[in-house]
Amino acid sequence: MVLSDSVESLKGIGPKTAQILRKFGIKTVRDFLYNLPRDYENFEAPVSISEIRPGKVSIKGKIDSLTTRRARRRNLTVTEGVIRDNTGAVKVVWFNQRYRVKQFAPEKEYYFTGSYELKNGRYSLISPSAAEVAEIDPKSGLSPIYVAHGSLKSHDFKRLMSKSRDIFVSVPDLLPSVEHGMRAKALFYAHFPNSLKSVAGARNYLAYEELFELILAARLNRRENEKLQAVPVPFNKDKVKDFVGKLPFRLTNAQRLAAWEIFQNMEHPTPMNRLLQGDVGSGKTMVAALAAYEVAMDGGQVALLAPTAILAAQHYEGLNSLLESFGVKSTLLTGATKHKAELKKQIRNGEIDLVIGTHALLTDDTEFSKLGLVIIDEQHRFGVEQRQKLMLKSPAGVAPHLLSMTATPIPRSLQLTIFGDLDVSVLNELPAGRQEIQTKIITEVETAEKLYPEMRRLMALPPDQKKHGDRAHGQQIYWICKAIEDVNGSSKAVNVVSGGSEGGSGPNSGSEITSVKKRCKRLREVFQDKRVEFLHGKMKPAEKDAIMDQFASGEIDILVSTTVVEVGVDVPNANLMVIENAESYGLAQLHQLRGRVGRGASKAYCYLLTSGDMAPSRRLRELEKSNDGFHLAEVDLKLRGPGEIYGALQHGALDLRIASLSDTKLIAKAQKDVEQFLLDPENMVKYKELMNGIKKYQQITTLN
Ligand code: ADP
Ligand code: MG
Repeated sequence: MVLSDSVESLKGIGPKTAQILRKFGIKTVRDFLYNLPRDYENFEAPVSISEIRPGKVSIKGKIDSLTTRRARRRNLTVTEGVIRDNTGAVKVVWFNQRYRVKQFAPEKEYYFTGSYELKNGRYSLISPSAAEVAEIDPKSGLSPIYVAHGSLKSHDFKRLMSKSRDIFVSVPDLLPSVEHGMRAKALFYAHFPNSLKSVAGARNYLAYEELFELILAARLNRRENEKLQAVPVPFNKDKVKDFVGKLPFRLTNAQRLAAWEIFQNMEHPTPMNRLLQGDVGSGKTMVAALAAYEVAMDGGQVALLAPTAILAAQHYEGLNSLLESFGVKSTLLTGATKHKAELKKQIRNGEIDLVIGTHALLTDDTEFSKLGLVIIDEQHRFGVEQRQKLMLKSPAGVAPHLLSMTATPIPRSLQLTIFGDLDVSVLNELPAGRQEIQTKIITEVETAEKLYPEMRRLMALPPDQKKHGDRAHGQQIYWICKAIEDVNGSSKAVNVVSGGSEGGSGPNSGSEITSVKKRCKRLREVFQDKRVEFLHGKMKPAEKDAIMDQFASGEIDILVSTTVVEVGVDVPNANLMVIENAESYGLAQLHQLRGRVGRGASKAYCYLLTSGDMAPSRRLRELEKSNDGFHLAEVDLKLRGPGEIYGALQHGALDLRIASLSDTKLIAKAQKDVEQFLLDPENMVKYKELMNGIKKYQQITTLN
């Protein structure tokens, strides 16, 4: 047996089972062995049936009289039976678990663990989990629980696994840094636990192995990157100084440092691969402008990729007004851009220095003559393929420098592992004069009494800034709406993936448009002397732009919008945000949304509107307490896991099988061992399985 053999080579797995397994990504013997139990059931100390009491119980017995019927309620099947031991008998019921009828042999003994409770006037054991006594280590009483894959349930995995019990001894070592046989042992005890201690040991090794692979992949990516050629951009001190001196504000120290780090990188003939991380409002765009200016002055071209058309347009306006007078020629390229062919010709000829756009930038016919720098705003919103496409647009043989920007802070644990191949600059300082955004959870019933007066008060305050908001009478408001489905009169939030990209179907669903329009109508009734408009993703680009322009110039007082304004939009005179159905968003997204206000010198407010049916979630309470994106990201990571957070396209791939990214000790150990591993180039040849295995991680983290 070899680990890379097909699962079909295992006992008990025929073509049909193999087909199901393959559908869930379990293709090889290795995949099968690494399909680890999600948890363990402890069947320790069962009670006699005569002593059973209501509540959670564990019993041991034989089962008979199994029947399945359809309940009167649709979509419900009831499977019933009787469990006996030599002290008595008890009724057992499962709901929607038809397969239970065939699971048990009448002569065999099983453990059952479940809740003993009153149902329909009778005490029964409700939906217990079950395991054959003969299959469980009698000392530990532990039984693994596997995630069901289609028709293959946990007990099927257990059954198949026991048939392969004797193959574990032939599992080869994977890593040089641990004792011989450790991997085989760890896998065995993960599937056949004989004590809580052996399970813990097994899982600890497997977590270590996973971290080792991740860190190694990141380190190798960095090496790959270092082998590439880039066009060096000499630092032009005088020009940059002149440019900075003419800005309308002083750069923050963090901005200076980040720009300096970028200039240093770009002076080298290896491509920069830097992530600029800064909380919302920290001024990342300014740093991007400096980098773009530097490259353009040197005769190179710059591409800036933004996730939405609104944001691209805003970047274009901001950057063009900054850079135009310094001789940098910019253009906007989105799906809605007219005369695309003509523009693309100019880009191809090198007449345009800075191209700002959305996915439209990625099409094959957008060619550059000397692309020197790629800037990706909100990098986690783009997939690897999209980023790669852009990187390939530089002249043959050279790679552009890359600056990715994100407001979703990456906790240190992730920086060391998954993102270990990146250099990171952090804007840990907000421009001077910013105040904390005051955040408050309120319930819908309080809207008229508490929220409306606050909104009125704010709109009566003098406008914040001259440049933006020059037509404003007072300060402005965002009201964010979420898709609401009217199910038989009761409202139900539709959980959509965090979105806002062009053309994404989820976030701009029809019901979301209805809810935006409805809310807009309501607010017009309430604030009759104010201008209330709405914005959603399905509007024509020109309509969207017009509304956004009017909001930015202060002609609109209240903008009712979907999450299309989530990323990057910058209207410093808007100082109050209401987020309706706040419970239906993730923490990172709420923080991003909230970051649309508090971008000027005035005090800003964020109201999280909830139905009030339940106590507010931990997410909302954390948000109420903290404005610190880093802190919130750590909390979010604990609540959701990394896969959910760092990009929909990377979804799942980043959810670690077993390792916890908060295990800093284990991370440190893996890191040290990876360094050791890399010292000997022979290792790359010797440890073939390891090198092949990490390819999947390399694809995730590679940015070029
Ligand atoms: P983000 O990091 O969220 O992308 P932006 O780049 O959009 O932030 O900047 C937020 C706001 O702060 C913008 O209005 C920008 O003009 C302003 N800004 C940027 N840098 C400074 C600074 N050093 N001093 C004052 N305002 C600044
Ligand atoms: Mg931004």
